[in-house]
Amino acid sequence: MKEIILVKYGEIILKGGNRPVFERALMKNIKNALQNIADIKMDIAQATIYIETEPDRMDAVCDRLEKVFGIVSVTRACVCEKDIESIKSAAISYLSGVMEKGTSFKVEAKRSDKKFPLDSIKIAQEVGGAIDDNIEGLEVDVHNPDVLVRVEVRDAAAYVYSTLNKRAGRCGMPTGTGGKATLLLSGGIDSPVSGYMIAKRGVEINAVNFFSYPYTSDRAKEKVIELARILSEYTSKINLFIVPFTDIQLKIRDKCPFEHMTLIMRRFMMRIAEIVAKKTSSAALITGESVGQVASQTLAALNVTNYVCSMPVLRPVIGMDKNEIVNIAREIGTFETSILPYEDCCTVFTPKHPTTNPKLDVIEKSERVLDVDELIKEAVAGIEKIEIYPE
Ligand code: ATP
Ligand code: MG
Repeated sequence: MKEIILVKYGEIILKGGNRPVFERALMKNIKNALQNIADIKMDIAQATIYIETEPDRMDAVCDRLEKVFGIVSVTRACVCEKDIESIKSAAISYLSGVMEKGTSFKVEAKRSDKKFPLDSIKIAQEVGGAIDDNIEGLEVDVHNPDVLVRVEVRDAAAYVYSTLNKRAGRCGMPTGTGGKATLLLSGGIDSPVSGYMIAKRGVEINAVNFFSYPYTSDRAKEKVIELARILSEYTSKINLFIVPFTDIQLKIRDKCPFEHMTLIMRRFMMRIAEIVAKKTSSAALITGESVGQVASQTLAALNVTNYVCSMPVLRPVIGMDKNEIVNIAREIGTFETSILPYEDCCTVFTPKHPTTNPKLDVIEKSERVLDVDELIKEAVAGIEKIEIYPE
């Protein structure tokens, strides 16, 4: 019996005249994601992408598709001839063995090929009757079935599957259809989640990390690389820019009031990230800030750090509690890496009593003793670019 994978997509369908652009992007992303997994044949028709592959690669392909943005569901289906007898016998052999005794089921049919002689209600009745007669121990329940069996009669063939073969996709929009943004990626929990959330909307991301060698170790750098790699499983390639930050931090520590250290540091980060963003054609920055989480994330502090850049700063976790962010981090697979105990550049130079209600003019005045432009120029000149690919 021949099996095929049906990929359904959601929001793209609402795109009107632009829909083919989104469909092509999704197909390209699927092809990229599967290139090291299996040889595939892919087709698109009637708002469904059809993927054929070797039987022993089916599971691996479905697993990989689970991480591709823009997909609403991934279903293994049995393909059969478009006549009711073939559909019935395909349904019986496909479902016997998988539907356990005592399971209740319902058949729903859809006939997009209107030339097919039976309408959808009739198809469902015929197939439901055949399953009931031939697979022992099942019950029909049209209101609240354990398993929903679907029959789709389409242009190319008929397909039979059940909710047992169907998995939810990630949803979102295909990567690359939403422009590009630059993520300030620390080794913490919040910024990888933020990158994921914006990437899910189809935005291609690259990442900037501020690195304070020798105050932070190579292991801290490896951790950031690993976080970017986990994100790249969803987005494909990510360019990671490692910015040498030690000189800037030492200058701030030596010349500015220590309680302003974090904020001034954050202002440097935003400025440098914006330079990287412009160079890489990004239209926005992304951070993992959440109101009130730490002193540098009060509204007054956010205003002070935001002031130095003109690009929009996307903060997708801004209104989330820590445990809500942690739940997403666990779900997307970044949590275990984020909690590895290596120091981050911010924690190395954190004042005990940071300002929580900073005034912009006060911070600007503290900062004025520094040659901001020169420090930025030096840091940018020392940037290391690392290209990161999914495993
Ligand atoms: P995270 O969990 O993302 O580290 P956080 O709660 O520790 O966030 P902060 O350390 O105040 O928050 O940093 C706020 C945001 O600034 C981070 O979410 C991240 O976007 C950015 N950021 C902080 N440190 C760095 C760094 N070393 N490199 C790149 N970005 C950073
Ligand atoms: Mg942090």
